[in-house]
Amino acid sequence: MTRATASERNADVVIVGGGSAGALLAARLSEDATRPVLLIEAGEEEHDPDIRNPAAWPALQGRSYDWDYRTEPQAGTAGRVHRWARGRLIGGSSCLHAMGYMRGHPADFQAWVDATGDRRWGWDELLPAFQAIEDHPLGGNGLYGKGGPMPVHLPSDEVSPVARAFIEAGASLGLPRLEGHNSGQMIGVTPNSLNIRDGHRVTVADAWLTPAVRSRANLTVLTGSRVRRLTMAGNRVRGVEIVQRQGNLETVLADRVVLCAGALESPALLMRSGIGPRDTLSAANVDCLIDVPEIGRNLQDHLLGAGNLYAARKPVAPSRLQHSESMAYMRAGDFTAGGQPEIVVGCGVAPIVSECFEAPAAGTAYSLLFGITHPTSRGSLRISGPELGDRLIIDPAYLRTERDRTLFRRALAAAREIGHHDELAGWRERELLPGSLNSAADIDDFIARAAITHHHPCGTCRMGKDTDAVVDADLRLKALDNLFVVDASVMPSLTAGPIHAAVLAIAETFARRMNPA
Ligand SMILES: Cc1cc2nc3c(=O)[nH]c(=O)nc-3n(C[C@H](O)[C@H](O)[C@H](O)COP(=O)(O)OP(=O)(O)OC[C@H]3O[C@@H](n4cnc5c(N)ncnc54)[C@H](O)[C@@H]3O)c2cc1C
Repeated sequence: MTRATASERNADVVIVGGGSAGALLAARLSEDATRPVLLIEAGEEEHDPDIRNPAAWPALQGRSYDWDYRTEPQAGTAGRVHRWARGRLIGGSSCLHAMGYMRGHPADFQAWVDATGDRRWGWDELLPAFQAIEDHPLGGNGLYGKGGPMPVHLPSDEVSPVARAFIEAGASLGLPRLEGHNSGQMIGVTPNSLNIRDGHRVTVADAWLTPAVRSRANLTVLTGSRVRRLTMAGNRVRGVEIVQRQGNLETVLADRVVLCAGALESPALLMRSGIGPRDTLSAANVDCLIDVPEIGRNLQDHLLGAGNLYAARKPVAPSRLQHSESMAYMRAGDFTAGGQPEIVVGCGVAPIVSECFEAPAAGTAYSLLFGITHPTSRGSLRISGPELGDRLIIDPAYLRTERDRTLFRRALAAAREIGHHDELAGWRERELLPGSLNSAADIDDFIARAAITHHHPCGTCRMGKDTDAVVDADLRLKALDNLFVVDASVMPSLTAGPIHAAVLAIAETFARRMNPA
């Protein structure tokens, strides 16, 4: 229940959502001591010690600080409903994620340049933003950053012997051995680079919202406060309406509002505010103030097949990292050809399977995960009603296109080829999944039941130069003067790997524009 109060405040900049993009932005924008910044987060401060433990990450899902969404049943994955984790706390999804740090491939960012017509979103132009983010062991060499807030750990001694054998198997297939996935060359094998320091996860809040930043007089962090809708006057946003944890309603007036509520809640907030596709809003009983048909469309996500499962000949020691220790990116035809990856095979140092299969006991098996890097299926997100409690209708349209299904078959074949290589013979007792597949239909059926989210939803407020795009290359909502979206929703298309580094680079790029040197 909400109760209206007389409470009202003002801020120069209001940031909605204290997750990956929002926490970084709050720190960067409050560097200017003359600029009052208010960061509003629906969740609370982080308090669970398990968040620090890299190996515990899968167990965090479903806890009180996970939004824990459900998709619509997916025709492409055997009618299954997928659970989508998202962080609901300061630090957002960086508190739940698997810590893999991958910038992406240069061609991924060329696609953003093509979409926006703006060179600032290209690989070379984004390099300073990536470098400013990173504290990389090889930093300062012109390629990686040194001394930035976010540590990038290159695992060595801690890498599981199973993952080492996986890397050897990939190399014997002809895949180059890489020093990490972040040089611009992604095709190859390497342990995953991780946002870990001294064995502990580093969240975006740890990295950017340090005690020194929090003590700035011009930065206010409001937790337990969910923005219900934007208030508007003409072609400007006046401010935001907040529902506080006790149910009180507060209004904040702002010169500029920056939405960092993530790929699901940023478009949902716009829709609840009357900005979105007219037909969707009308079905949800929301008056349409500004008809923006693309809001909520272009939803994309990576899937991983879980998994190509092997019984182990000897005990598999628990991962000393975060279970999924190495990813091999490759082309789908000639695996080792160069360029932009098309498929990926990952080494899970644990029996990782979807809910459709029974996992063998820990220590007795391991999984190779497989997927495609640039799905062409496009889904959508809608609100079902005007209130915060009204469910989001999330349809990622998994495996809708024939191209995606074809590449997924190639990805499974690549996993099995690596999994049966001699270098893994010391670990492989026998293949448990998928086992014998006698027809194309068997293969498709296995993939449909094995596919799980890789947790990378994005694209629902895409940036672009075309008239339908939601935000322009400056991330300004096209219909309004002082409203920006800065999070995973603005990505026009997925990067090849996990997207967290790209989300941080988007936020850092925006901060640079707002904080001229
Ligand atoms: C389980 C999991 C594993 C992942 N693994 C990896 C990985 O290994 N590597 C990688 O690169 N990426 C990974 N990701 C993806 C990555 O974490 C996300 O893409 C990224 O964190 C998204 O950042 P964001 O700023 O867009 O959104 P978020 O970080 O989700 O932040 C959104 C914030 O807004 C708040 N909010 C929402 N609505 C409102 C509202 N109305 N009012 C106020 N606050 C609001 C939320 O509570 C949240 O704190 C993973 C994600 C998950 C969930």
